[in-house]
Amino acid sequence: MSRERRVLVTGGAGFLGSHLCEKLLGQGAHVICVDNFCTGATANIAHLDGKTRFQLIEHDVCLPLDVEVDEIYNLACPASPIHYQRDPVRTTRTSVLGALNTLDLAMRYGAKILQASTSEVYGDPTVHPQGEDYCGNVNPIGPRACYDEGKRCAETLFFDYRRQYGLEIKVARIFNTYGPRMRPDDGRVVSNFIVQALAGQPVSLFGDGTQTRSFCYVDDLVDGLVMLMATPDAVTGPVNLGNPSEHSMIDLANKVLTMTGSTSPMAFMPLPVDDPRQRRPDISLAKALGWQPRTTLRQGLGRTIGHFEDQLRRIEPAKVDARRGEHAELDAIY
Ligand code: NAD
Repeated sequence: MSRERRVLVTGGAGFLGSHLCEKLLGQGAHVICVDNFCTGATANIAHLDGKTRFQLIEHDVCLPLDVEVDEIYNLACPASPIHYQRDPVRTTRTSVLGALNTLDLAMRYGAKILQASTSEVYGDPTVHPQGEDYCGNVNPIGPRACYDEGKRCAETLFFDYRRQYGLEIKVARIFNTYGPRMRPDDGRVVSNFIVQALAGQPVSLFGDGTQTRSFCYVDDLVDGLVMLMATPDAVTGPVNLGNPSEHSMIDLANKVLTMTGSTSPMAFMPLPVDDPRQRRPDISLAKALGWQPRTTLRQGLGRTIGHFEDQLRRIEPAKVDARRGEHAELDAIY
């Protein structure tokens, strides 16, 4: 009898990780979720706990781990600027040591390993849209560098383990993703706008609001990760995963205000340091592999607004305000 596929998801209690665990369980895999809960939440995986094929290990990926697995998705790392800039040294440590420890684990058990990399490796890009061959424009000493350079170094390690040891690797460059289970204090633009609109607070726009971003709905993104993991050995990536349809911040704010029925005003503030003006994935490669996003911004926003309405009903508004106020200067960074 063949053994069930054992899949490790580091950062499995986070926003993307919890959706990924759910998807993999749905496919019949045995899922091992590793998390240190620095930005993740037990609530994200509470519905999975108790399932026979789901196992939770509280562990920091900066330390080695020994668990027998066939596949590893390495997602452990805070993704939101307010979270990754709170302890930048720990962020770099998580990206670099986390990559080394999971790569060593993959070596030990001959497992396939996928790295959740990011569009941030392109920094403030000078070409649009960004294809995988673009090497990026990152400021190595700026406040975002702990994340950007940490993720770039992790990619380097993945490709060196491939070249040096022949390990089966996959690198996904994830672009801005949103959806249910984002935290109200996540600090990125979709959650900021929705939380502010629902709370009747001014919706904060930075600069003149004409800068653009592309937003991918979480279910589409998770499908992309699973698709990439299933590709033949020769496909290593990096592969951009994101939604190429571009929206200005003003356009997004207007959509959120309309969909929430909010009368919140817009508040314009100075642009933060190193804030990219535009970012949009070229997803030709992902498309050639059979993946593309399917959820429209309207559909995705509808589901995400529903999630936050639910969350905010449970959290005292004063608490949300206090937490957001604490990081007011960083809230800007999308
Ligand atoms: P998240 O903060 O919700 O999830 C990260 C998870 O990793 C959390 O559960 C956190 O507790 C855990 N974690 C952090 N450091 C850890 C450590 N040292 N040891 C063990 N666990 C640790 O963020 P997310 O949005 O779900 O992002 C998941 C991954 O996807 C990250 O690697 C991120 O860089 C990447 N990514 C996300 C996006 C996005 O738009 N959400 C975009 C690009 C890349």
